[in-house]
Amino acid sequence: MRSLVVSDLHSNLPALTAVLKKVQRKRIDRIFCLGDFVGYGAHPNQVLDTMRSFKATKVYVRGNHDRVAAGYDEGEGFNHVARTAALWTRDRLSGPNRRFVRSLPVGPLTTPDGVMICHGSPADEDEYLFGDFHAAAVFDAFDAAITFFGHTHFPMVFALDENAGTIATNYIPAGGTFRLEEEKRYLVNPGSVGQPRDRNPHSSFAIFDDERRTVQFFRVPYDIRQAQTAILRAALPPILAGRLAIGT
Ligand code: ZN
Repeated sequence: MRSLVVSDLHSNLPALTAVLKKVQRKRIDRIFCLGDFVGYGAHPNQVLDTMRSFKATKVYVRGNHDRVAAGYDEGEGFNHVARTAALWTRDRLSGPNRRFVRSLPVGPLTTPDGVMICHGSPADEDEYLFGDFHAAAVFDAFDAAITFFGHTHFPMVFALDENAGTIATNYIPAGGTFRLEEEKRYLVNPGSVGQPRDRNPHSSFAIFDDERRTVQFFRVPYDIRQAQTAILRAALPPILAGRLAIGT
């Protein structure tokens, strides 16, 4: 089975469009979205409409921005810019999209074939999973062989070798194929579609192939100018347009 893995779309329609164009000739059986469909960008309804109508088995969890846009909390933990955008989003969701965002499950979810997906970490959707020390705690607390997580907007793989007791941390800045070994366990972040933060402004996503045992990472350019123009026209904080060009 081949699973398209996307995360942190952040209402960026030009970016999502470029990602879906890149995969349109590839076989995709299933799509994972690791949350933050909305927030920051100016196209919440278009992004949600696209994700709701994607033709494959859909396994979606909410992110922290979706939670605020859904009205479950007021974004007290957010910085001013993030909160402004989340509340702007909440006011603009269509009825069906509001219901969809409100009904998104809180991670972690485990698929019938044992893959775990979550937003921040399986323990907490708000947790940033950056370092191997932290990854070790997650590997200890959960036993999935492969877990996909988002939230940090950095494409990377933590690989646990249980026999050696070591964790390898792999940043995957420019795409490429990562091979999964039978006896290891993995925490995999596909990076962000809509707001990459690793100083590479190209959209990041992955395809997980469980027969070949690979995670293929991709970076695709998209029309950044179009996303920026929409943010500025919507009178969202201008910094949200500026950061897209430099990937921060
Ligand atoms: Zn995010």
